[in-house]
Amino acid sequence: MTTPIVTERGRLTALRATWLFDGTGAALIPDPLVVIDGGTIVVVDSGAAAPSGADVIDLGGAALLPGLVDTHVHLAFDASADPVGALAGRDDEQATQAMIRAAQAALRGGVTTVRDLGDRDYLSLGLRGRPGLPTIAAAGPPVTTPAGHCHYLGGVAESTEAGVRAAVREHVERGVDVIKIMASGGTLTPGTYQHLAQFTPELLRAAVDEAHRHGLQVTAHAHAVAAIADGVAAGADGLEHVSFWTEDSVDSPAELIQLIADRRTIVGLTVGLVPVPGMEPPPVVRARLPLIVANMKRLYEAGALMVGGSDAGIGPVKPHDVVRYAPAMLRDIGIGPAEVLRMVTSTAAAVIGLGHRKGRIAPGYDADILAVDGDPIADPDALHRIRAVYARGAAVPEAGRTRPTP
Ligand SMILES: [Zn+2]
Repeated sequence: MTTPIVTERGRLTALRATWLFDGTGAALIPDPLVVIDGGTIVVVDSGAAAPSGADVIDLGGAALLPGLVDTHVHLAFDASADPVGALAGRDDEQATQAMIRAAQAALRGGVTTVRDLGDRDYLSLGLRGRPGLPTIAAAGPPVTTPAGHCHYLGGVAESTEAGVRAAVREHVERGVDVIKIMASGGTLTPGTYQHLAQFTPELLRAAVDEAHRHGLQVTAHAHAVAAIADGVAAGADGLEHVSFWTEDSVDSPAELIQLIADRRTIVGLTVGLVPVPGMEPPPVVRARLPLIVANMKRLYEAGALMVGGSDAGIGPVKPHDVVRYAPAMLRDIGIGPAEVLRMVTSTAAAVIGLGHRKGRIAPGYDADILAVDGDPIADPDALHRIRAVYARGAAVPEAGRTRPTP
């Protein structure tokens, strides 16, 4: 008696469209064919016939591009006017359900990979690998000082070298993908100050050293000039925000900007805003915004390695799919139209350590694909006209339904 051979290979899916942005190129490729086997892209071609037996999905008129990668989100914050209060009112089970809704909203909006840079009590780690959600890389609760920025998320370290090393080690033991450290204060936490560093340079260095000893990257929330400088000096792999915030304005230290570029420290620009009527940034932000944007331009001109992380979740202008709005804003600071797409696809994937699987439409890559109406290089608003989203080969239900129906 013979046992029938059952192959693990399922039916192939072939996507056809009018244009393709592959995540790395400078121009669109016409008449693309993308063949998917399970969760993986196996063929990318132009003008070719689909393999026989494949299920062909014709997205005529659409452009395919890699699913978007957001390097800075907070699934635990619900994008309401008071995300900290809303989270405080949820127990872990309720918070987890809200995080699942946030992640689903991201996916419907074309965001197939997120890096969560601050949850509560490591809740985002349990969401990794779940079908129907984006691919999630997670920092757990940010490492912070006693009563420091986001202390209520559970990542407080004692202010000694042993204390910060222990906090980093706890994160390692819990299995985080990256260490997030709050190098300066932040507006979400009363009693902390964006213009002040939270850690001494020695403690920041100890945290980075401990993370690197365990093979993890560190990215530092850094608004204050001193926090940015200390982060670079400590060897942090990345910096978030990088606003050069001072007590009454914004600084523009040319040498530090050049150092950030020369050291290849990853700059996570906080970009992408959904216009919401009546939701203006607070006056302290509004007054500084033109200066912050000018600094982004200086960083770019200095040759800094930059990506567009959104800080999704922290308010109504930052829903969980808000990174689609980043390319338009990045173009406004003078970055080229294909490069701004790379900053939310291939470059974003590379800086979070997923450059081998994410951010490109190429054989061997995860089948994370966004199909939009129009040319996303010529017109960044095309990113909002979503035809379909595929996450690890699976079509996302209700793709493009990006706002809750009132
Ligand atoms: Zn953040």
